[in-house]
Order: sequence, then C-alpha cells, then structure tokens
Amino acid sequence: MRVHLPLRRTLVAAGLSVLVAVAAISGRDALVSRRRVPPQITISVRVRGATLQVPPGTTFGDVIRLQGLRPRAGRLFDVDGNVIAGHRDPGALLLDGRHSSLKTPLAPGDRIRVVDGTDRTEATTTGRVHERSWAPGDPEFSLSVARHDEVITRGAISGEVAGISFVPTGRAKTPRTVALTFDDGPSPTYTPQILRLLRRDRVPATFFVIGELAQRYPNLVRAELRSGMSVGNHSWDHPESPPFVDLEPARVRSEISTTNAELARLGDHVHLFRPPGGSFDPSLVAVTQAQGLRVVLWDVDPRDWAPGASARQIARAVLESVKPGAVVELHDGGGDRSATVAALPKIIRGIRSMGLRLRAIR
Ligand SMILES: [Zn+2]
Repeated sequence: MRVHLPLRRTLVAAGLSVLVAVAAISGRDALVSRRRVPPQITISVRVRGATLQVPPGTTFGDVIRLQGLRPRAGRLFDVDGNVIAGHRDPGALLLDGRHSSLKTPLAPGDRIRVVDGTDRTEATTTGRVHERSWAPGDPEFSLSVARHDEVITRGAISGEVAGISFVPTGRAKTPRTVALTFDDGPSPTYTPQILRLLRRDRVPATFFVIGELAQRYPNLVRAELRSGMSVGNHSWDHPESPPFVDLEPARVRSEISTTNAELARLGDHVHLFRPPGGSFDPSLVAVTQAQGLRVVLWDVDPRDWAPGASARQIARAVLESVKPGAVVELHDGGGDRSATVAALPKIIRGIRSMGLRLRAIR
C-alpha cells in the first residue's frame, strides 16, 4: 500500500496534465481522446450518452468544468404564461444516477447525466364569491337572470385570476323577451338592409361587430348606435383556428382591447363580447371581465351561416326553438346574407305573435 499510493498519485498528476493541456489547445472536444493519450492511462466514462476517455483520477468536477456541462434551468410560469422569478428547478448533474461530490474520482464505466430542470406552471387556488344581485350568467346564453356564485381560480404565487365560472344558485327569472343578435358585420351590403327592417319594425337588436370592419365602415357602426342598437365586440379579425381560447393569452387580450378602443372611438360604450365561433372557457371570462365586458353567447342558432340556407328554413328554425329569454344568433356579415334579410320580417312577426317582446342586450 505504501508503495502503491504515491505511484497512483503520479499517474493521476500525469494524466490530468495531459487532460488539461489537450483541453486548453482545442476546447471541449479534446477530452475525447483517440490516439494522443496512451490507452493504459485513460478510463472510459459516458457523458450525456457519449463515450469519453479521461485520465485516471479525473474527478466528476473536472469533467463538468472542462466539458462545460450545465443543465438548463426549468422555468416557472404564472397562470398567464409569463415567466416568474423564484422556485425555478435548477436541473441536476448526476453521476451514476445520483447527486455526487464534485471531488468524486471517476471510475471506468461511470455515467454522467445532465438533467434539465422542468418547466412548471404555478399551482392554482380556487375561491367562491357569492353574488347577491340578480344578473345574467357570464357567459350569458339567455336573458334569464339568477343569483350566482363566482368560482374564481387564481395563481397561487402570482395571485393573477386564471379563470372565472358562474354557478347559478337557486331559481332563475326568465323575462318574456327575446334578443336578436347579428354577428360578423358591419357589411356595406347587408347591415343597412337589416337596420332598415329593424327600424321599420321598432326592434332594438344587438350587433357583434368585427373590429377591423368597424374601422373600415365606421358610418355603419354609427348608424347602428343612432338607431338605438346595442353594439358589442366580436374580436378584431375573427380568428377561428385554433379556437379563440387557444390563442396566446396576449393575442386574446389584444383582439378584445383593440376592438374596444375602435368602438369607443365611434362612441360605443362596450359591455359585451362574443368570441368568434362561440369559443369560451373560464380563462376567457376572466380576461373579458378584466376589460369590463361580459361574454354573450346564444341559445338559438338557426344556422343562417350554412351555405344554401333559405329564408324559410331560417325563419322556421328560429320560431321552432325560440322561447322566453332566448338569445338568437344571426349574421349580417361574413357571406351572402340575403336569406337572413328575407327571413327577418317573418322572424320578428313570429316572435311577437307568441306574446314575446324583442330587446337589445346591454
Ligand atoms: Zn362570428
């Protein structure tokens, strides 16, 4: 033993000096020795799945330093998708699957693994708020009002509201009124025709307009407002694929806020948002509430958007399913709406003949 130890030290020193010298000349790859280092003084280890020859006595720390091994730190995201500081997973450098001292000398066949940290989204907490006043739901599918509990999900670290769900408590009150809503306009062809019919029959209705069309045809939005119609936000450019709620959170917010700004410029005090395609989830409700809006959907869809739908089919589809409190989805933009225009007088007459009033959503 007494003889062996100094000898081993000498070999270690010789080996390391070769290692350092080669590494200094040509960087990391120099550690992968082929011919320069005599085979009797190298040992073979696996680093990140590749074989590496190192002098005996090389430590775990030597290889980490000379190979520049560094795990990528995992990031922590808040519920809105922003990186937040703290609580990051630093990842790990493992020797044979274990955390080991950097001074550990490597043995033949040792494996060094670089484990990147995992990305994580903060946990959420859920709270329940009792809403005392009678109100429509959010999303609003019909004109019924009820008392609701608001179930609010927040990021446990950031406190950001991640989602809001409305849960009606107790019974609903349903008015003997119906709301006609028109999406995807304004259209220079169809919006004036629909407005003329609504004005003639004194029907207040609701238009969910596309922001970029409102910017292109501001006078049509002004005409809607002047005629006593309610004008809501239907996004800036109607993205449909992927579904609206699957867009980047920043895009969802800007689709809504740019349209709000455009409508405000035209004199509209916007309270309503209808997502393209009716796409919604609790996160959308949280985002729209933060912008002072509530989500309005519908419970009667006569499919006036389907190619080839006739006026008779559209009117019949509305009148067969309309009931007190119904919100009817029609379209004044997005295609040939002549059948919708032709169906409108029949729809208005039919609904009134059931003893139901027509009103706009505010
Ligand atoms: Zn639409």
